[in-house]
Amino acid sequence: MIDEMAPEARVRGATALLVDDPRFDRHAPIGHHPERPERLTAARAGVARAAARFERVTPRAATDAELARVHDPRFVERLADLSGREGYLDPDTYVSAQSVDVARLAAGSLVAMVDAMIDGPLGKGVALLRPPGHHARPSRAMGFCLLNNIAVAAAHARSRGLERVAIVDWDVHHGNGTQEMFWRDPHVLYVSLHQSPFYPGTGNADEVGEGDGRGYCVNVPLAAGGGDGVYASAFERIVLPVVEAYAPELVLVSAGFDASERDPLAQMCLSPAAFGWMARELGRLADGSANGRMALVLEGGYDLVALEAGMRSAIEGMLSGRSADLPRGQDDPGVARAEQWARKAWAAVS
Ligand SMILES: [Zn+2]
Repeated sequence: MIDEMAPEARVRGATALLVDDPRFDRHAPIGHHPERPERLTAARAGVARAAARFERVTPRAATDAELARVHDPRFVERLADLSGREGYLDPDTYVSAQSVDVARLAAGSLVAMVDAMIDGPLGKGVALLRPPGHHARPSRAMGFCLLNNIAVAAAHARSRGLERVAIVDWDVHHGNGTQEMFWRDPHVLYVSLHQSPFYPGTGNADEVGEGDGRGYCVNVPLAAGGGDGVYASAFERIVLPVVEAYAPELVLVSAGFDASERDPLAQMCLSPAAFGWMARELGRLADGSANGRMALVLEGGYDLVALEAGMRSAIEGMLSGRSADLPRGQDDPGVARAEQWARKAWAAVS
């Protein structure tokens, strides 16, 4: 990867951890499906073009114990039974012969990256994972996702002694699986921006968590068509103040690139620069409270050009602290509604 970078890229920019493995490409659909191996080719091109250096994390499979922190062990067993077979688990979600092994490798490699962040000198990371994870529920694969990579990693960080982990999910779809896994848990803050109404149908502003977890789930549903200015407003009014107040010790980003203006599955209108700006702003907060620990974890993104450009922009924003500024003055009723609910829920916990 480093050899593919332009010479100036080797001297500019900081160093980040990188998770990638050619085996992720073995999760492959029968016939056409938007969640396809070419997505990682595009993401890898974004990584190669970013002004950054990377230190690779050695991939490894997640253990049963690591998965059991967020998944029902019976579900993991049922999934294991599918190894070597191919077919559809629901109308959206396929398995090919090696998909189950690949999914375990994706989740475990992100766990390995969290360990490297806690134990080593590098705080920032990029994880090019397939299959994606944020729709995977405790007992069910769903929405192209088999195992919930980011949730497994957040639970692992907790087991390593971190008290507060923030997951910011800017994938255009609501991360229903991640929300469900930490619904009653104040030690993992879940903040999602997503197109609404849209698949999977969850993520209304009034979904704020329950019990001890009430207030630690923040949903910002956005009407179709919103662009950079809407996301800037949502970040400045809700996402950044909430994450900053939480003072996370690790920031994990469910980094989908399907809110891009080019994406064929969704109708939001983000430019590549927006991903750089969001990553820059979250990187600033990670530098403040999390000893710099922040990971961009690939979720969706189905236009290959947008995926490459968004990935590159996000990496550079996160690492350099520099990015284009976004337009202001655009708003969405969902932002005001989410702000009301977030205020109310946070008043209850603070
Ligand atoms: Zn998505």
